[in-house]
Amino acid sequence: MELSSSHDRADVVIVGAGPAGAVAARRFVEDGFSVVCIEQGDWPDYSRSHVADEYLELSAGKEWNPQPTVRRSFSDYPIDTSRSDVEPLIWNGVGGSAVMYAGIWMRLMPSDFRVRSLDGVADDWPLSYEDLAPFYERIERDFGVSGYPGDPAFPDIDSYPMKAAPIGPHGRMMAEAHNRLGWHWWPGSNAIATEDYRNQGACVQRGACMWGCINKAKASPDVTHWPDLLTQGVRLITRAVAQEIETDAAGRATAVVYTGDDGVTRRQEADVVVVAANGLGTPRLLQLSTSTRFPNGLANGSGLVGKRLMMHPFATVVGVFDDKLDPWKGVWGQPVYSLEFYETVKERGFVRGAKWNVTPTGGPQAMTAAFPWGGSEIWGEGFHDTVRDRLGHSLAWGIVAEDLPEEHNRVELDHSTRDRAGLPGVRMTYRTSQNTKDLLAFNVERASESLREAGAKETIVAPMIRETGWHILGTATMGEDAASSVVDQWGRAHEVPNLIIVDGSTWPTSSGMNPTPTIAAFSLRAIEHAVTERRSQAVSS
Ligand SMILES: Cc1cc2nc3c(=O)[nH]c(=O)nc-3n(C[C@H](O)[C@H](O)[C@H](O)COP(=O)(O)OP(=O)(O)OC[C@H]3O[C@@H](n4cnc5c(N)ncnc54)[C@H](O)[C@@H]3O)c2cc1C
Ligand code: SF4
Repeated sequence: MELSSSHDRADVVIVGAGPAGAVAARRFVEDGFSVVCIEQGDWPDYSRSHVADEYLELSAGKEWNPQPTVRRSFSDYPIDTSRSDVEPLIWNGVGGSAVMYAGIWMRLMPSDFRVRSLDGVADDWPLSYEDLAPFYERIERDFGVSGYPGDPAFPDIDSYPMKAAPIGPHGRMMAEAHNRLGWHWWPGSNAIATEDYRNQGACVQRGACMWGCINKAKASPDVTHWPDLLTQGVRLITRAVAQEIETDAAGRATAVVYTGDDGVTRRQEADVVVVAANGLGTPRLLQLSTSTRFPNGLANGSGLVGKRLMMHPFATVVGVFDDKLDPWKGVWGQPVYSLEFYETVKERGFVRGAKWNVTPTGGPQAMTAAFPWGGSEIWGEGFHDTVRDRLGHSLAWGIVAEDLPEEHNRVELDHSTRDRAGLPGVRMTYRTSQNTKDLLAFNVERASESLREAGAKETIVAPMIRETGWHILGTATMGEDAASSVVDQWGRAHEVPNLIIVDGSTWPTSSGMNPTPTIAAFSLRAIEHAVTERRSQAVSS
């Protein structure tokens, strides 16, 4: 390949400017390493998110759509989802998918790290909750999390940087219902500032978080990390597509080859390569990086790169009430969550469980949308009455189901499509397992019971919503054994000692939690280890 001019060699090159990449960059630069980050997208232009406009829901349909297969912006690569039960949701740009996230902030539970030991399925993680706990605490300060400590499910959390957002009438209604049922609930923890905090502004409770927060209240790394990192000397190259990781004869990573906005292909050499391109982008880049030594893709001796894709299948149950709830006021994150049905109970006939969070049902246009209503019939005669009934008078339980790793669920290169740099797109193959279907069916029943207890006059079930693939995990799994995993507990590729993967592709099991806190805490732990062990770090010659 003919390459044009390369930049100066760096200590570290990172691919991806989302939470995982931003956390890695911050930790390296704190210890004086020179860092270059290659990001295929641009800075988000919040002026185009229209979150303060009446036509927000219309403008969100295209440019700010979380679904890359609908959005098709210049930074999106093609994704064939014809063999998938779920559509992936990601944002490619500075801040990563967190530009679009709801900001729901949940640590994993201790049991999530020990699924094999407890339930006899999948694998244990090679690290424990206790190993990650100190990193969660630091990350919660960096991402400006608001919450209410004291949840008995997390006895070690004794403070959050900010007080929790108000739970609103809809949160209160569900909390009271759960008190009567004797079921767990807790005020929501969210990466949403409830007061001015570092680079973040205070949330104005406009409930439009998933379309970009113009108030900088939501903690996405374009707000919380990148402005500071740039002043600290990190070089962020935007609109640049990483196309390959190069290695030397000894199998060490030497450089990331990328195509810049000017169409020129360059090589960024570095001692250490960090990949933070998420559960789709990371296996894609590894699969693109073939060589004589790595004919099946980089670090793929186990054959597991791209396999064991997990997506957190998601169901909702909406309750329609006589009471006026105005659930669009407040945060779109979670006002309230419940872990009542999170852990395995053998008698239920399936393993693992789900986390629930109260979800607003949105404005007028959302009354017709798949999220959260599923395919519920609304058009035709009675349309206006139904909208009147639902709008401002409804709330949903969002049910995040734990997904088990299965090798047939996978991400592979799709050579029939090309991105703007001429690289193949990806094909997702993803089918939900019987365990997941049973798990969701059980939880949907219980959520309906909860809403009826709260006084819902009608409950509407969306048993699984296709357009909710916001958590993409497992495609470069971590473990102790190189034959059955791609990276070790520090994110280091077993076969390439100076390649560190820090995103959710490393997860051996999915938990039932929103993943960003754990992705960020894992990244911080991995990079702290790399920094501490710098003297024994193998690098290319
Ligand atoms: C609509 C929506 C709602 C969500 N809600 C929540 C929530 O409430 N709570 C929660 O915890 N999580 C939520 N998530 C998930 C959350 O956004 C992700 O867990 C998080 O962003 C993952 O961080 P990451 O850095 O690993 O990956 P990403 O944030 O996806 O960042 C990866 C970056 O890598 C870049 N990249 C990929 N390939 C290349 C390449 N070849 N060259 C250059 N750059 C590349 C991408 O452009 C992207 O910017 C949500 C996601 C979406 C889309
Ligand atoms: S509700 Fe708060 S966090 Fe959400 S978009 Fe509005 S200001 Fe931002």
